[in-house]
Amino acid sequence: MAAPRPSEMASPEEAGGSARSQNGRGCRTTLLPARRSERGYRLTAIGPSRSPSAAPLSWQQAGSGGRQGHGRGERGGMEGKAGGTRRRAAARGRGRRGCPPRRRAAGRPARRGAAGGRGAVRRGARERCRRGAGPQGPAGRTARGRGRRAQGRRGGEEGGRAGRRPRVTVDSSKAKTSLEALKISLRQLRWKEFPFGRRLPCDIYWHGVSFHDNDIFSGQVNKFPGMTEMVRKITLSRAVRTMQDLFPLEYNFYPRSWILPEEFPLFVAEVRMMKDSDPSWKPTFIVKPDGGCQGDGIYLIKDPSDIRLTGSIQSRPAVVQEYICKPLLVDKLKFDIRLYVLLKSLEPLEIYIAKDGLSRFCTEPYQEPTLKNLHQVFMHLTNYSLNIHSGNFIHSDNVNTGSKRTFSSILCRLSSRGADVKKLWSDIISLVIKTIIALTPELKVYYQSDIPVGKPGPTCFQILGFDILLMKNLKPMLLEVNANPSMRIEHEQELSPGVFENVPSPVDEEVKVAVIRDTLRLVDPQKKKRKDSQCQTLEHVSEANEELLDAGPADRPEYDTTKSPEAGLPSLCLKQVFPKYAKQFNYLRLVDRVAALFIRFLGVKGTKKLGPTGFRTFIRNCKLSNSNFSMASVDILYIDITRRWNSMGIDHKESGMCLQAFVEAFFCLAQKKYKSLPLHEQVASLIHFCEYHLAALDEKRLVCGRAIVDRRSAVVPCQADGLHLTPAAYTPLLNRTATVSKFADYRSHRY
Ligand code: ADP
Repeated sequence: MAAPRPSEMASPEEAGGSARSQNGRGCRTTLLPARRSERGYRLTAIGPSRSPSAAPLSWQQAGSGGRQGHGRGERGGMEGKAGGTRRRAAARGRGRRGCPPRRRAAGRPARRGAAGGRGAVRRGARERCRRGAGPQGPAGRTARGRGRRAQGRRGGEEGGRAGRRPRVTVDSSKAKTSLEALKISLRQLRWKEFPFGRRLPCDIYWHGVSFHDNDIFSGQVNKFPGMTEMVRKITLSRAVRTMQDLFPLEYNFYPRSWILPEEFPLFVAEVRMMKDSDPSWKPTFIVKPDGGCQGDGIYLIKDPSDIRLTGSIQSRPAVVQEYICKPLLVDKLKFDIRLYVLLKSLEPLEIYIAKDGLSRFCTEPYQEPTLKNLHQVFMHLTNYSLNIHSGNFIHSDNVNTGSKRTFSSILCRLSSRGADVKKLWSDIISLVIKTIIALTPELKVYYQSDIPVGKPGPTCFQILGFDILLMKNLKPMLLEVNANPSMRIEHEQELSPGVFENVPSPVDEEVKVAVIRDTLRLVDPQKKKRKDSQCQTLEHVSEANEELLDAGPADRPEYDTTKSPEAGLPSLCLKQVFPKYAKQFNYLRLVDRVAALFIRFLGVKGTKKLGPTGFRTFIRNCKLSNSNFSMASVDILYIDITRRWNSMGIDHKESGMCLQAFVEAFFCLAQKKYKSLPLHEQVASLIHFCEYHLAALDEKRLVCGRAIVDRRSAVVPCQADGLHLTPAAYTPLLNRTATVSKFADYRSHRY
């Protein structure tokens, strides 16, 4: 194991502790303490360039080429403007951004070494740009025009030739920094890429940032609406907190957190109380601004009275969290794990975890936090985007060494030390499933708002980046979830002072290409078609076989399995964990059921908030109002909770009660109704009570609806609750779900 190089640069404090990092959201990386004027080192904007002096690429190596975007770091899957005073490599900036990747047959090794490498690659890139291969600029437009025509021609061929399976089509025009890894994956799968979009619909749309990157009405898109909002630090903390209220032991993998500014008094009071009860407790807290990324604006404090905290509370919402002081160390360094998780479907819930991930290392030996070392980011923060600027950062072409390694290499090492790696994996799987269970209720609210049932829209899947810290005792702790984990497969290298170049990163390529390729294999729209037709074939075959059995083995037909499009590809790197382990986790999905009630009463399609009438209807239909709880009290409850949640600055665009507020009101009602039970039992009982009454109501309405249809009446008269009864409204709840999935099915298989 290579030891870190001695620091060639000033420590963050000496360096003035401030640096700017470019990333997709244009966020600034502030090192601690934030004294931006004295810069001991320089962070440069990295333009697209290549270096061939690549370390050996391990497997599935294919072409690399045109870079798009400058996002950096594990979080950097977004485009950003180059910031600061930066010099760029000469080869960069000549329209390279739009250059399409160099074609290289999949599996053919990259050319390496100085001679055939750098110069040749650069010349190639310039050549292509001169020929106008980039999408930007006049030359690019011409090329695009040509490309479209060519695509049109090819499109005609696609599947047009008799007997040939049509290729899956992928729009990669918005892929941004994941473009490179996506291209390699598509080549391996032999799918058809549309780098500049397509007039006809594609099967899959690959977005770099969000669901809304493009207007799509069919096919599949690799983002869920609302995911970016859901995994922001405050929203995630809230969602996990709700689950912690219900199941404190099951959700103890997330550090104790407080949301600022509104919970500042609570933070102060709780810390004081804990210190009083245990004077030996010497905590450290980490303050993370909401919406920050790549370590942006993060700092450590020892006490709630710290001036940096009190000074910025009102200006920047943040999460303050208990700092994990005893992380597991490897080579005396703190590290975290980036795991890739595929949320393949929300309804029904389907989750896959990649068998391998990345471990990102700090670059200064770890010491438990003290007032003296609190500011040393290279010791406490594992962000790649920060540590890459340390003189100790080690780029390695070996997955077992360096500042970024594969997670499997860490597991091997732990296993050789006798650690129970199986248990660790099981804990990680459990952490991932529980976290997604915490996120799904609100995601469903976003989903129905953006893709209402009955309207054309795509189906969604998404690769998430889970950042996990292992404690000394090997317990995994969730740090955060990234909606846009960086899928870049290159890193930047300083060739000479101020001159940077992007070079392939074998570690990133090994992990990320497999994740993208296997995600595509799992969502392959033709696989379902094949499965369906296989089922039919099997039926025929089994019928035929019954006849053939009599004829003897020699007469049986042979089925050629070697022609499968997946032949030759490695086995899937993504492992299904849900519904596989659903039985163990379904009891946690209470808020999901509360969200189903919420969505039912939202009424107007496309909204995310419940109005007062919807809330009253919910109370009335579920028979929750009685002499002890009048409709006037219902209104007061609605107003109180809604006002408080809206004052927290959550989505002011719409008025009404958000899901989290509804959940709070629901918990309130549950506590009122079932006094002596633990909270999760109170909530489960109330859910059951509501679902029972709604099912009865649905039944009644169905009968009523049938009678009306019999009378051929266009208007449904039974509107006791004031709701206009659309067909969806009087479909029983379970049937509505079936209708939703039917629509989803329909959407995902229209080409
Ligand atoms: P960002 O999105 O800005 O990267 P993170 O929540 O990932 O924010 O935190 C940045 C880094 O800070 C992490 O990679 C980890 O090294 C460290 N960190 C975050 N939270 C904790 C914590 N509770 N205890 C210890 N270290 C933490």
